[in-house]
Amino acid sequence: MSSIIIALDGYSSCGKSTTAKHVAKELGYAYIDTGAMYRAVTLYFIQNHISITNPYEVSKALSNIQVGFRRHHETKSNDTFLNGMNVENEIRKMYVSERVSEVSAVAEVRHAMVAQQQKMGKGKGIVMDGRDIGTVVFPEAELKIFMTADSYMRAQRRQAELLAKGEMVGLPEILANLQKRDHIDAHREESPLRQAEDALLIDTTYLTVDEQVELVVRLADERIGQAVRRREKK
Ligand code: C5P
Repeated sequence: MSSIIIALDGYSSCGKSTTAKHVAKELGYAYIDTGAMYRAVTLYFIQNHISITNPYEVSKALSNIQVGFRRHHETKSNDTFLNGMNVENEIRKMYVSERVSEVSAVAEVRHAMVAQQQKMGKGKGIVMDGRDIGTVVFPEAELKIFMTADSYMRAQRRQAELLAKGEMVGLPEILANLQKRDHIDAHREESPLRQAEDALLIDTTYLTVDEQVELVVRLADERIGQAVRRREKK
C-alpha cells in the first residue's frame, strides 16, 4: 500500500477541516490543520502584545513558540497545543479570527510554519488543509483539492460551529470576517491563497459532509492506485 500527500486548500469555512478529518480517518492517514497553527501563533501574538510590524519582536516571538497537536483522550480529537497548553477552544474564538489573517501574512511567520509543516508531511500518509498546501508546502502532493462554497452558506456553517461552542455571533459579523480573511489571504504578497494549476475544484455549497468525504476518498483511492503502479514499474 502506497501513501500519498493530500493537500486541501480553499476559502475559509468551506468544510475543509471537517472533510480532511474524516478522509484521514477513512484512509488511516494523519491529519494536520495548518489553520490551527496560524491561529495558535496569533493567540501568542495577542497575549504577548507582539507588534507584527516589528521584525525583532516577531522573530523573538517565533523562537519562543512551540505549536503541536495531541490526541484528546476523551473526544479523540486532535487538539492544538501552544507551548504545552491546550488552546483548541481559545483559537477558534472570534477575537482570534479577527487577527489571524494579518499575522499569517507576515513572511517570517509563514516561513516558520511552512518548515514545520514540511517536516510533519515527510513520511507521507497525510491530509493537510490550509491555504498554500498545494502551492507552497507540498507542490508535489499527489492529490490537490481546492474548495469553495457560497459565502452565505459558509457564514451559516461557521455560525453553527461557534454556537455549538457557546459563542453567539451574528451572521453579518461572521460574513464580514470571512470576506475580510479571504481578501487578505488571497492578496498577501507571501504565498497568497490561490488554486494550484493541478488542483481539482470542489464547490461544497450543495454537498453534505458525507458526500464531500466520499468524493475525496474516491479521488485519493485513484491516486494511491496510480502511485502503487508507478512504484511497481520502477
Ligand atoms: O483554516 P482556518 O480558517 O482556521 O485558518 C485561519 C487563517 O489562517 C486563515 O484565514 C489564513 O489567514 C491563515 N492560514 C494561512 N495558511 C494556511 C492556513 C491558514 O494563511 N495554510
